[in-house]
Amino acid sequence: MHFDAIIVGSGAGGSAAAYYLVQSGRRVLLLERGPELPRDGSTLDVEQVFGRQAFVETERWTDGQGREIVPEERSNLGGKTRWYGAALLRFGRDEFAGDAQRLLLPWPIAADELTPFYEAAEQLLGVRTFPVEPELARIADHLTGPWRGWDVRPLPLGLSAAILDHPDEAKHFDGFASPRGLKSDGQSAFLERVRRHPNLVIATGRTVTDVIASDTDPTRAIGVVCDDGTVHRAQHVLLAAGALHSPRLLQSYFERTGLGRTLPSANLVGRNYKSHVLTAVLAFSPRRKTDLLRKTALFLHDDFPRSSVQPLGWFDGEFFSAIAPSWLPKPVARFVGPRLYGFFLQTEDGSHPDNRVVAHAHGIGRPRLDYDLARIPHARDEHRGLVTRFNRDLLAMGLMPMSQSIPVTGTAHACGTLVAGNDPGASVVGPDGRVHGMRNLYVVDGSVLPRSSRVNPALTIYAWSLRVASGLVQRIEQERTRNEQSPARAGHPVWA
Ligand SMILES: Cc1cc2nc3c(=O)[nH]c(=O)nc-3n(C[C@H](O)[C@H](O)[C@H](O)COP(=O)(O)OP(=O)(O)OC[C@H]3O[C@@H](n4cnc5c(N)ncnc54)[C@H](O)[C@@H]3O)c2cc1C
Repeated sequence: MHFDAIIVGSGAGGSAAAYYLVQSGRRVLLLERGPELPRDGSTLDVEQVFGRQAFVETERWTDGQGREIVPEERSNLGGKTRWYGAALLRFGRDEFAGDAQRLLLPWPIAADELTPFYEAAEQLLGVRTFPVEPELARIADHLTGPWRGWDVRPLPLGLSAAILDHPDEAKHFDGFASPRGLKSDGQSAFLERVRRHPNLVIATGRTVTDVIASDTDPTRAIGVVCDDGTVHRAQHVLLAAGALHSPRLLQSYFERTGLGRTLPSANLVGRNYKSHVLTAVLAFSPRRKTDLLRKTALFLHDDFPRSSVQPLGWFDGEFFSAIAPSWLPKPVARFVGPRLYGFFLQTEDGSHPDNRVVAHAHGIGRPRLDYDLARIPHARDEHRGLVTRFNRDLLAMGLMPMSQSIPVTGTAHACGTLVAGNDPGASVVGPDGRVHGMRNLYVVDGSVLPRSSRVNPALTIYAWSLRVASGLVQRIEQERTRNEQSPARAGHPVWA
């Protein structure tokens, strides 16, 4: 088949772009390096998922000091969205503006330009809120009380209401993958809707190793090569391999074609890596906790304007035994686990050019993920204050907090390495998602995010991807009209 577009990767960005392009009648090849996840229940199994880390990537990287690290990447159809906690929040309107002092880059588009795509994504993902359960309601009452100043809001979630009828899934959606499709992820909300269309080919187990340039014009990509040696051609190539991998493909493309020496944006590829400053807080109480979903509310505080707190999913003895440090005796972990309420504290990290992803040089050596909080002191200091205040407020209501900061290997919220902007000298991707200086190479994953915001990124990645795909369809139609000198037929999808 001759393809209009090849999409590399099937996470939030890849799945949303595939959906839009296929619904618009475009012929799409979606290449995903991982397999489709099994539906045999193993993705809900605590021992396999957290104990043996059976579904986490094993590729070795180095950190900024040259030490070996293994980032917690996921390779499977649907990407990280199959494992995410389904908290699907829009970025705030003010988070589209820059703030040079805090190293926050401006978006090249106004918040309003994303609004219709946020709405479409929310509809497709079935975003809803759930009632706050009794134990969390008590914690929220305390945190919002006098002298504490926390604001509590319902947390929008991409979960089916039917999940409450399946306790095994309701207890295991945050960090697990739903075999029944009760969590709205990239696969269930986007790919399954178009999977049977004849104009979509999904190939799993195919790692794209290179983007191929036209012989006559390096600014035109004509296809990709996979690790099995297969070559695939298309009119357009969309990178959606995630913020750790799309920049690696672009770096090697620029190196091979010599564009790295001429395009002003080339030096920025892989830079400005962001992943939120993250801490998990586990609050121990003498009493067993019975709330089921838990992750139903968002906590904000005026003193920490670039931060938010949300509960983690279910804890019990089995789960805590699997994630607790190995020095903790298992019987202790099994006693403590059912008495824990978990929270996830996140602070927006600024963009520093030295926080970056570096690909292998000509295939030699390991990729490098260099991220140092000392380069983004505003974010580091706000986060420290946030953790201290939140822990203090938990203690005041008789809960014993234990904090664990998430290290550089915690790449769940990776973004920003092919940052979008108007200026080709200060960004890699333009407002239409096209790589500056390239004719037909687009980026639709989290790499483009100029800011990581105070909340989780997936909804914004879906929305960006739908917007880029919609613009691409318009351009294809305009081109066809010009070529045929005849009126174009409308080719836009219905959302449902
Ligand atoms: C445990 C966990 C919990 C999370 N919770 C939330 C949450 O509650 N809310 C939220 O908004 N976000 C959450 N996130 C983050 C969210 O899942 C990511 O932000 C989002 O999935 C990123 O989308 P993406 O398209 O940029 O990349 P990914 O989802 O990482 O997709 C990239 C895909 O590309 C594939 N790929 C990579 N390289 C290649 C290659 N060379 N060739 C072919 N394919 C390739 C990968 O296998 C992968 O499938 C969570 C993430 C994790 C891991």
